[in-house]
Amino acid sequence: MQKPNILLIYTGGTIGMIKDADTGALRTFDFDSILTRIPEIRLLDCNIETISFESPIDSSNMNPTYWADIAQIIEVNYQAFDGFVVLHGSDTMSYSASALSFMLENLAKPVIFTGSQLPIGDLRTDAKENLITSIQMASLQKDGLPVIREVGLYFEYKLYRGNRTTKINAEHFEAFESFNYPNLAESGVHLNVNKEYLWRAELTHQLVVRKTMNTNIGILKLFPGISKSLVKTILGCKTLKGVILETYGSGNATNEKWFIELLQNAISRGLHVVNVSQCAGGSVNMGQYETSSKLKAIGVISGKDITTEAAAAKLMYLLGVKIAHSEFKKTFETCLRGEMT
Ligand code: ASP
Repeated sequence: MQKPNILLIYTGGTIGMIKDADTGALRTFDFDSILTRIPEIRLLDCNIETISFESPIDSSNMNPTYWADIAQIIEVNYQAFDGFVVLHGSDTMSYSASALSFMLENLAKPVIFTGSQLPIGDLRTDAKENLITSIQMASLQKDGLPVIREVGLYFEYKLYRGNRTTKINAEHFEAFESFNYPNLAESGVHLNVNKEYLWRAELTHQLVVRKTMNTNIGILKLFPGISKSLVKTILGCKTLKGVILETYGSGNATNEKWFIELLQNAISRGLHVVNVSQCAGGSVNMGQYETSSKLKAIGVISGKDITTEAAAAKLMYLLGVKIAHSEFKKTFETCLRGEMT
């Protein structure tokens, strides 16, 4: 049996930072020295190579151009490696994991995003466990084939489906949650993979990498008292192609006449409006209440139980691949990468 080949892709984030001795500020360090910082990595039963962004970034600066860079690295190295671990800041990791899940069509190998709350050089760091176990998750094989064949996110003893995650805490080591989908695996004394929840990728299909994301989208979060002028301004934005409407509960919104009319006009002008709940868990169900029936009637797209992060990535992706306008609603409402139930 050959040892699996794992490629570590370092994009930036706290995980690869050290404290500047003079200023005390966190700054990125040369990631090629990772093996000297965590010698335990050498004990892992796999071959590891690293590749780093030329200038590592704080993930608050993440954008679709960097996503395309990550996708390109995976595409170029797809045949030579059995799994990929993407080291990434936690702040926007859920967006990136979602985006890559759409961009990597027919992915049949593990792409595991991870990071940490404390820098790798910190005494109490969570970076070591996150990194080491992510590599182990990416190395899991059965009958010579990778066990995980999707984009995952590993943090604090749990492997989640990447496009189901949300960052929920800025301080706790347990920084992520997947409210609407079970964990793919847990790390305890043993690595426990919940096989029934894994994405079953077609092994015979070729990887297709879609690098064009259309960023002409917006997120409109409702709140009691939201003004007509705000809604009008956002929906009237000329460049906008899609809007995520963050609604209440199971997809409800005010049914005041002005609001429905503004939405209806926008939809008839060709804007795609997606209904995603502000609730962390549960699903949009338009028609359950009177306050969502009109949304359904005017052609608002149901985001079902998708996260806002995955909805944003899916909108950019579907606009990028130029899905026909008449097919857009149906395609968005279809589960493409396990992002909705
Ligand atoms: N600000 C950092 C980032 O997202 C936080 C982290 O790495 O966890 O890049």
